[in-house]
Amino acid sequence: MKPFKNLEVWFLTGSQHLYGDDVLKEVAQNSEEIAKYFDALEEIPVKVVYKSTLTGPEEIRKMCLEANSAENCIGLITWMHTFSPARMWISGLKVLNKPFVHLHTQFNRDIPWSEIDMDFMNTNQAAHGGREFGFIGTRMRKNRKVVVGYWQDEEVINQLSIWMRAAAAWADAQGAKIARFGDNMRQVAVTEGDKVEAQIKLGYEVNGYALGDLVKYVDKVSEAEIDELIKIYQEEYNVAEDLLPGKEKHQSLRDAAKIELGMKAFLEAGNFKAFTTNFQDLHGLKQLPGLAVQRLMAAGYGFGPEGDWKTAALVRAMKVMGQGLEGGAALMEHYTYHLDQDDTKVLGSHMLEICETIAVGKPSLEVHPLGIGGKEDPARLVFDVAEGLAVNASMIDMGDRLRLIVNEVDVVEPNEDLPKLPVARVLWEPKPDLQTEAAAWIYAGGAHHTSFSQAITQEYLQDFADIADLEYVLIDEDTKIPEFKQKLNWNDIYYRFKGL
Ligand code: MN
Repeated sequence: MKPFKNLEVWFLTGSQHLYGDDVLKEVAQNSEEIAKYFDALEEIPVKVVYKSTLTGPEEIRKMCLEANSAENCIGLITWMHTFSPARMWISGLKVLNKPFVHLHTQFNRDIPWSEIDMDFMNTNQAAHGGREFGFIGTRMRKNRKVVVGYWQDEEVINQLSIWMRAAAAWADAQGAKIARFGDNMRQVAVTEGDKVEAQIKLGYEVNGYALGDLVKYVDKVSEAEIDELIKIYQEEYNVAEDLLPGKEKHQSLRDAAKIELGMKAFLEAGNFKAFTTNFQDLHGLKQLPGLAVQRLMAAGYGFGPEGDWKTAALVRAMKVMGQGLEGGAALMEHYTYHLDQDDTKVLGSHMLEICETIAVGKPSLEVHPLGIGGKEDPARLVFDVAEGLAVNASMIDMGDRLRLIVNEVDVVEPNEDLPKLPVARVLWEPKPDLQTEAAAWIYAGGAHHTSFSQAITQEYLQDFADIADLEYVLIDEDTKIPEFKQKLNWNDIYYRFKGL
């Protein structure tokens, strides 16, 4: 089953009338075969629909307008089987407001050495037809992904499916609603930002709600509903002895369950996709929502703490991109370092709110005191995270634009057990190394909060940034500080000239 079974990508083929009807018929047949091949693949996460072979500016424009207004269409795959004079595409590309990928492939994989003649050459001229189409995309400064190779190659299919997942996250953000319980943490800089700009650029709306609005939902939760949820906790987690029914801290767990049910009801009633909390604004709640946030994130909600709505939206987008893939996505924070120069590492965590989709093994459900927030001891899930490649991503507001910063990391096992640390945690080695990564991240202005994922790679985020027209800054194994600083300076000039 496709993870986005209601979403479609349209397959459009460019050609012209120069070659006669027989060639156009063959082009259409080949195109349909490729589209059907993609559609049948499990790795391709959406429906792929062959639409038509386009041979003139009017039909191209009409098709683009149709794609714009088709709710289920999240983007286009364009392929030039023959030569499609690209001025025919100007009026269509001018109005197109859906993402597109330029698939630069050829129907036949191999040159048929002994058979090849000029007819074959005329029908199979994507090698230069695609370059003509490429020029107009570049001339019109259109962001798009270019995927090159034989259409059945694994790498081509992988690149297409990554782009489709980024396009699905983009579609998900359009008109999405994000709830903020309270405002930003006082005096904090990076969690602030221009909500109007974000809505124009990224499509989601962020609105604030008083804690009283949430508390109304929490107060409506019945004891029977709490009993039911406690049973689920007992099935899904290793619940600490002192939290079990009849034990001394059981009431704390019931209070946490009540907050979870109230929050869930509020978010469902308002059709929200992400939310933020703020420990400075918890009026009417008995605990800082820890367990509730962890479980709602696992259910698919984006989340940012301390009013960090940009991170909430990014966590949501990364959850959508990774839907159905192995590994999860969670809010994360660079918490503390291991600075042994032969073994530098970052311990990532948060006060409480790390999503259980990244947990290895069964999480423990525990209640411990929390110095911050001035409330009763909150419940939380405690777990470790599996080893392997992951990404940390941060969206910041530069004042004149949004910047997406991404770092590739290797999750590693803790050097020793952490018996006294009562929160979910993950240890990683950033690429290329902590010294370079932290300096680059800081030069780039990356936030302390990130969205962390083991389900997706930087390529998903790069595609997402291209679709959203965001500045994209990658810190990976090739990053070197002098070039990196230069790139940031060049970007500043580029975006100033480009105008936003
Ligand atoms: Mn924080």
